[in-house]
Amino acid sequence: MKGHKWGDEALLLIAKELTKVGKEHIVARMSEDSFVLVFYQFEHLDEIKTLADVSINKVKNLMSKQSEAYFYSASAGVALYPDHGLVYGDILRHANLALSAAKKNGKDQVVFYNTFMHQSKEREYEITNAIKPSLQNDEFYVVYQPILDFKSGEIRKLEALLRWNHSSMGYIPPNDFIYLSEISGSILELTHLLYDKVFGQIKTWNQMGKYFTVDINISPKVLMHPTFIEDIERYIEKHEIDNKQIIIEITESMALENIDQTIIVLKQLKDKGFLVALDDFGSGYSSLTYFKHLPVDIIKMDKDFIAKIDKSPSERHFLKFVLDLSHAMSKKTVLEGVETIEQVEILKLHDVDYVQGFYYHKPLEVSQLNKTIQSK
Ligand code: C2E
Ligand code: CA
Ligand code: CA
Repeated sequence: MKGHKWGDEALLLIAKELTKVGKEHIVARMSEDSFVLVFYQFEHLDEIKTLADVSINKVKNLMSKQSEAYFYSASAGVALYPDHGLVYGDILRHANLALSAAKKNGKDQVVFYNTFMHQSKEREYEITNAIKPSLQNDEFYVVYQPILDFKSGEIRKLEALLRWNHSSMGYIPPNDFIYLSEISGSILELTHLLYDKVFGQIKTWNQMGKYFTVDINISPKVLMHPTFIEDIERYIEKHEIDNKQIIIEITESMALENIDQTIIVLKQLKDKGFLVALDDFGSGYSSLTYFKHLPVDIIKMDKDFIAKIDKSPSERHFLKFVLDLSHAMSKKTVLEGVETIEQVEILKLHDVDYVQGFYYHKPLEVSQLNKTIQSK
C-alpha cells in the first residue's frame, strides 16, 4: 500500500499536470483529491467538454505511470457562468453537484450541471432517511433469479436480489438505494436482513428436498467490516444451513479498491467453505493480473457485454478468451443478462457453464419460483 508521502507527492504532480491542459485557466485544490479548474473564456460547449476530457486523461495517465499496480479513475463536473450561477459560490456548488452525478454514473465521466440535479439530491435525501424506518417496518424483501446450467437447463443456483416497496414512495430499485445505504452506513443492517431472509429460505428449501446454492451481493463496506465473517456465520448457524450453499458476489472495481485486504478476506471465506464470485466482469477495468491473483471460484460476465455479443465479433473473441482462461484456471463462468434467442445461439458455439437472464427467468418471488421448480 502507498503511504501519505507518496499521496502528497502524487497530488503535487496532478496539480502540475492540470496546469497543462491548454487554454488559459487557474488550478486550485479544493479537498483531499478534488481540484477546481477555472477557464475564463470559451467558444462552444464542446470545447469545455474536450478540456474536461483532457484533464481526466492527464490525471489518469499520470497516475498509471506512477504506479502500474493500481487503477485510477477521474471524473469532472462542469458549471458555467452565467447560465448556472452569477457568483463564484453558486457556480462551485453546482459544479460539485455535477461531479457527484458524474461519479454516480460510473467512472471517468464528465457531467454538466442541470437543475434536475437538485431534485435528484432531494430524492436521495428522502430515500436515505426512509431506509431505517423501512427496515423496522419490514418493507424489504428478497427475490431470486435462477441461474441455469447451460447444457442441462437445470436450476441449481439462484441470485438473491433485494427489493423495496416503500409505503408512500412505492417501488424503489436497488440501484437507487444500495449506494445510498453504503454512504449512510445502513448497508450493514440491510445485509444482515438479507442473510436472515435468504438463509431462512434456504433452510425451507433444504427441508423440501430442494438443494440450491444462492449468490448474495456483498458491498465493499460489508466485506471490509471487521466482523464480516463472524456475522455471516452467526446467521448460517441460526438457520442450520451449509456454508457451501452460499456464494459471495463481489465486484471487480470493489476488489481493486483495496486489493490486499480483499484477498485476505476472500481466502478466509474460501477456507470456511464459502464460494466466491467476481461480479460484473468485463464492465470496467479488467486486469489479467488481478484475475490471476483474486481467489474467486466463479466469473460472472457483465450484462452490458452480453448485450453486444450478437453485434460484434470482437466481443465474441473476448468471450472465448475469458471462457478459455477461466477453465484453464479451474473457474466456472456465469453469463449474465441473456435476453434473446440470438444470444443463446451464439453461446451454444462456446463452452459456457451457467446462464442467467430475462430470456430464461426474471427475478422471482419465492411463490413463483416454487411453482417454476415444481413444473420442471
Ligand atoms: P447485479 O448484482 O449485477 O444483479 C443483476 C441485475 O441484473 C439485477 O438487477 C437483475 O434483475 C438484472 N438482470 C437480470 N437478468 C437481466 C437481463 O436479462 N437483462 C437486464 N437488462 N437485466 C437483467 P436488480 O435486481 O435491479 O439489481 C441491481 C443491482 O443492485 C445488482 O446488480 C446489485 O449490484 C445491486 N443489489 C441488488 N440486491 C443487492 C443486495 O442484496 N446487496 C447489494 N450489496 N447489492 C444488491
Ligand atoms: Ca450480482
Ligand atoms: Ca452482475
